[in-house]
Amino acid sequence: MDTILVVNAGSSSVKFQVFAVEGEGKLQRLIKGQMDGIGSRPRLRAKGAESDPLADRVYPIESVPDVSAAMSIAGGWLRDELRISPMAVGHRVVHGGPQYERPVLIDHGVVARLERFITLAPLHQPYNLAPIRSLLANFPDLPQVACFDTAFHRTHDAVADYYAIPHQLHAEGVRRYGFHGLSYEYVAKTMPQVAPEIAKGRVIVAHLGSGASMCALKGGRSAESTMGFTALDGLPMGTRPGQLDPGVVLYLLSEKGMAASAVQNFLYRDCGLKGLSGVSNDMRELEISEDPKAKLAIEYFVYRIGLNAGMLAAALQGLDAFVFTAGIGENSVRIRALIVDKLAWLGVTLDPAENSRHARLISGSDSRIPVYVIPTDEELMIARHTLSLLANRPSSSFRQERVS
Ligand code: AMP
Repeated sequence: MDTILVVNAGSSSVKFQVFAVEGEGKLQRLIKGQMDGIGSRPRLRAKGAESDPLADRVYPIESVPDVSAAMSIAGGWLRDELRISPMAVGHRVVHGGPQYERPVLIDHGVVARLERFITLAPLHQPYNLAPIRSLLANFPDLPQVACFDTAFHRTHDAVADYYAIPHQLHAEGVRRYGFHGLSYEYVAKTMPQVAPEIAKGRVIVAHLGSGASMCALKGGRSAESTMGFTALDGLPMGTRPGQLDPGVVLYLLSEKGMAASAVQNFLYRDCGLKGLSGVSNDMRELEISEDPKAKLAIEYFVYRIGLNAGMLAAALQGLDAFVFTAGIGENSVRIRALIVDKLAWLGVTLDPAENSRHARLISGSDSRIPVYVIPTDEELMIARHTLSLLANRPSSSFRQERVS
């Protein structure tokens, strides 16, 4: 059986999925797993297509010191116990810099170029690259594909990617990139099946998960995003603040005497819903909390989404549809209702019953603009890209390249 392995490596976990390649390039998800607790309490968990448990085991801390070791244990488990030898591996890589506007087949040169973007995404890029390097060293003939969170946004008009700072910094790469691109690309590719005419128009997609951002789609292409140079900007998130006056960072450095690394940690881990509520970064916990600060955090989240929707509608010069996706967007009836309320000035209304049953179309019949819920699937997007790059390689057939 031909399979594709999709890898999403972070600082303390390696998430992976295996897809079977069926006739006509169809992809069927077989396995979902993750090796987490790297450096603390390593644990491998995996489930099959029907959520049937396949593995749940813990490892001594010293046997999984880093991401590469986690990848090698997960890969070994797939190979030795499930007899899965993927024909290719697709990786989620957060930063493709200004150049990469589509996924790329990886070689040593690509890795060297992607290493230059570590300074642009210090908490993600090194961990994304670690399993790539170790697979390249151990399985040099195994095709690997890098799929970027930034690539989908490279269709922005140049003006959307500038900051008002001297050009030299823009040339160095200090510009607005946008993230969650694989999620937006999946939604953009799904929209034509949901609403073919609207898919050609102006759509705002709200990716609301532990990371959150919104994207303005024009004809299925990204025209604007709420995120910028890093994944800190834009909407408030689980632990990140979203839009913040840079003066706050100066205050932390000069008045609070914080080191740059402490500020970085603070902004990525201690702000957002967690910081504002003091209760949790998890929307489910905030929704059931009686704490007034939890209520404030929800109010702030919804308010900022409303504000940013206005900004993106202005970028699009109108709006033909609004789409919710990711953990909160796909699951929270209450947050969706609160956000739709903020869109009332656009003539948007909600159908509460359809919202409660998580229907695909949740707007009221009198709504001027339809509102959809479209579950995202970044891993499937990566698998599709990987397969397509493999198929379009000039000289080789899949089978010749398989690793056995
Ligand atoms: P994601 O990053 O897309 O996996 O989304 C994760 C976030 O979705 C979690 O932190 C939760 O806050 C949120 N979430 C998941 N399910 C629900 C739910 N039923 N109600 C509210 N929030 C949810």
